[in-house]
Amino acid sequence: MRKQTMHIGLDDTDSKKGGCTTYLTAVLVEELRKFNVEFIDYPGLIRLNPNVPWKTRGNGALCLRFNYDTGLEDDIKETATTLWEEHSSVKEKGTDPGIVFYRNSKIPDELKAYSKKTETSIVTLKEAMSLIKRLGAEALGFNSCRGIIGALAAIGETLEDDYTYELIAYRTPENWGKKRRIDEESIFEMDKQTTPYTFNNVDTEKGRVIITPRGPDPIFFGIRGESAQIVNKAFSLVKPLEPVERWMVFRSNQGTDAHLKRMETLNAIEPYSSVIIKGTVSLAPRIVPLRHVIFSIKDDSSQVDCAAYEPTGDLRKIARELQVGDTVEVYGAVHKATATKPLTINLEKIKILSLSEKIMTENPMCPNCSKRLKSMGKNQGFRCEKCGSKYADLKKNQTVVPRTIKPGLYITSTRSQRHLTKPQRRYGQEKNSLKHMPMIDKWHSFT
Ligand SMILES: [Zn+2]
Repeated sequence: MRKQTMHIGLDDTDSKKGGCTTYLTAVLVEELRKFNVEFIDYPGLIRLNPNVPWKTRGNGALCLRFNYDTGLEDDIKETATTLWEEHSSVKEKGTDPGIVFYRNSKIPDELKAYSKKTETSIVTLKEAMSLIKRLGAEALGFNSCRGIIGALAAIGETLEDDYTYELIAYRTPENWGKKRRIDEESIFEMDKQTTPYTFNNVDTEKGRVIITPRGPDPIFFGIRGESAQIVNKAFSLVKPLEPVERWMVFRSNQGTDAHLKRMETLNAIEPYSSVIIKGTVSLAPRIVPLRHVIFSIKDDSSQVDCAAYEPTGDLRKIARELQVGDTVEVYGAVHKATATKPLTINLEKIKILSLSEKIMTENPMCPNCSKRLKSMGKNQGFRCEKCGSKYADLKKNQTVVPRTIKPGLYITSTRSQRHLTKPQRRYGQEKNSLKHMPMIDKWHSFT
């Protein structure tokens, strides 16, 4: 038997009405077991640039990597393609499924670089197709075929830098679309027992559970964490009140800030990308309708607006307290200028680097009777309303007022974090290499 390595990339099979590419992946893993394939990694769940205009809900792509008997290649491809067609919402507008097959024991650097680009900026189908041709990969797509872009990206993202895990549990079909039934107390307890090695289980600001999505998709809940072991343990601590049909552990770029690209100058940032950029607050925060907070930052090259929207919670409260002269590093998605709005960064995080002095200016007190004096006009001196004395030489008092915020990193509330946003809890737990560690035996149900 001759063995080879295959990578299957999948993207955008889900539509607004339901369906889910991770679910298709979980079913496909079970189907592939029938061909005695040997998985060489957990299924990859790769979140792409959250800022592309045509994304579906989560903009996630999936990848399976396995060794197989070359004699079974046609059967494997046919099984994958058939299942993909069955699960793809091909008739729905805005759903553009793609599937890519790639045979190689190594992922070329060119493909890895392509994947990084799909996480931080815009990639065209033309770029994807020409790379597929050069690599000798095979691709199939429906509708606009844009899903091929993500399917190829999932193959190229080998997650050798920072990465996380997610265990996703699925519902039985009769429950799809119904309210999810789960013991919420058990989720708070699980969070307590597994912290800081799991994240985004609950929104502490609102005291709300966030492992369960809303909507009609087959996902029951997903638990994110630092290792396959810990998400398994967390899974055992959660008490579902409806059947779990199947579950699977994915390795992912979620919670790693992979979408953010550090930029040096403000004039270099482009719409549809997500950036980290330094600047000095140049226009004070103002509150616009719907309680959003907008302020401006500048550097030697340009000036842009930064927006903290209402659901960002504490981040918005911090933004409101900034003042002209503060230096900050902002993290977020760049939105293009419109007729009424300049180029705007939608904030995910703010790092306050330094705070300028806040000085309060007041009229002096009357030396005669201690009442606060009235100004008689610019450089005209002061007059006391009580005793009638006039003072030509007194100056206004200037006092330094303590600032209400401190330098440091502030992150949007858990409920408004993107899949890719690195949460506070993960700081200090970043992985910087893919150490070879054997996969745990029980990484999905039916094993
Ligand atoms: Zn007086």
